[in-house]
Amino acid sequence: MLSIASFALIGWAAAALTQRDANISQQNTLDVDVCVIGGGAAGTYAAIKSKELGKSVAVVEQQDRLGGHTKTYVDPASKKVIELGVAEYQDTPIVRAFFARLQVPLYQYNYTTPGVTSEYADFSTGLPATPKQGDLLGAWNAFQVQVAKYPSLFYSLDDVPFPVPADLLLPFGQFITKYELQDAVPYLSLYGEGWGNFVTLPTLLAIKYFSPDFFSPASLSGDGPGALAAKDNSLIYGNATQELGSYALLSSTVISMDRSAADGVTITVQTPSGKKLIRAKKLISAIPPLIDNLNGFDLNNKTEVPIFNKFRGHSWYVGLVNNSGVPDNVTLVNYGTTNTNNFNIPVVPGVYNIYATAVPGIHYFLFAGNDSQPTFTESQVETALQDTLTRLRATGVIPNSSGPVKDLSIIDFTSHSPYELYVPSDQIAKGFYNKLFALQGQRNTYWTGAAFVTQSSTAIWNYTDQLVTKMWSG
Ligand SMILES: Cc1cc2nc3c(=O)[nH]c(=O)nc-3n(C[C@H](O)[C@H](O)[C@H](O)COP(=O)(O)OP(=O)(O)OC[C@H]3O[C@@H](n4cnc5c(N)ncnc54)[C@H](O)[C@@H]3O)c2cc1C
Repeated sequence: MLSIASFALIGWAAAALTQRDANISQQNTLDVDVCVIGGGAAGTYAAIKSKELGKSVAVVEQQDRLGGHTKTYVDPASKKVIELGVAEYQDTPIVRAFFARLQVPLYQYNYTTPGVTSEYADFSTGLPATPKQGDLLGAWNAFQVQVAKYPSLFYSLDDVPFPVPADLLLPFGQFITKYELQDAVPYLSLYGEGWGNFVTLPTLLAIKYFSPDFFSPASLSGDGPGALAAKDNSLIYGNATQELGSYALLSSTVISMDRSAADGVTITVQTPSGKKLIRAKKLISAIPPLIDNLNGFDLNNKTEVPIFNKFRGHSWYVGLVNNSGVPDNVTLVNYGTTNTNNFNIPVVPGVYNIYATAVPGIHYFLFAGNDSQPTFTESQVETALQDTLTRLRATGVIPNSSGPVKDLSIIDFTSHSPYELYVPSDQIAKGFYNKLFALQGQRNTYWTGAAFVTQSSTAIWNYTDQLVTKMWSG
């Protein structure tokens, strides 16, 4: 029970808040229907959808641009485009409608770059590797038979069966072995980049990610449904920023908020031009809900903190490297020959793959951490890349070369951390996701983003579309 002293403290805090709010001028106060925190795929969609429903919106984004994991590099000389993050979308009505709404044309996505060949090597030893040729499509289809057992997961993680079936709690590697899905691993592994050692994660997350709306390997050979992309995927976010105008608060962070009132929330935000106060009827949080990232949120110690402090993330970095010595028409694929207990997936921490791009001289590389070593600086990643290239040169995987690459330069480096938030299987078994989704709507707050759906913009937009519609339908 709260003591008189506690009431006094709460009263003091409320008075302090009012005082702080009183210091923010009317000019710096935004009255809106909804405030969205985070302007990545989920947040931008939520904002534009709310506008479509006739609602006024403010978006608070910590970066100087909207887009989150969508980041596009345009080569200054050739104007050619390299996607450093989100590259492709499933061909669904929601994807088509969102791009049309923001006036960005879509095209069929090309999985392959003409003339580029893939060379396999174990990046940890530098030695060339010959991947096992298995029955990829057979294994994928066998996997889909398992996936089909859990239709409630196709949409989001808000309907995880309870009690949670034992298979969904297995480390994904054990599930692969149990159902003899080994031949699908090289394909799954390409999409498990950024998930750390993805075969150790709970199977639930893999089942959700690779659900039927995910395109199948058949699409790679042109026999299945294709994916879509814009010429420059960041255009939708640029156009959304323009549409939101001064209500897109970029380079901005939450200082404090108050969600205690029945009829709305107030959020104090630090922006480059000073503090702003946002008064909104509802709040949508579209940021990775790690407890350390919910700074400024007035989290409830009983209902919210015990949930959000369970989430863990992975680290994932990507970059563009110039003068790497890798021929322009070669993509280097990391095949973990020594990682036999883990289906030959690449050993992490380490460089995952090095891809040829449309721009001569430039390769795109990915680097992943793991649970024991999650965080890396740009210079640590550059050293790891140099060491990897030196090994690949010594063994002839990169032909006619030896020793360190002399003129290597990293021309773009992006951290995509935290990525692929997860909780351990024992928490999932205790009903973690049921408790998480029970928070929807409490204290005028709604939650979306990859941690609630999966790492797919298409799936996130689908979920967010329904969430926002329901939110305003009372
Ligand atoms: C390299 C890479 C390639 C990918 N390729 C694809 C692909 O081809 N197709 C696909 O569908 N998906 C792809 N994904 C998955 C991608 O993560 C999702 O599609 C989607 O972008 C996730 O959206 P989100 O809104 O949940 O997160 P994000 O896009 O990360 O958005 C979160 C936003 O919140 C902001 N933010 C975070 N914390 C705060 C804070 N405290 N205050 C204010 N703002 C904050 C962030 O800056 C960010 O803008 C890829 C991801 C990566 C990293």
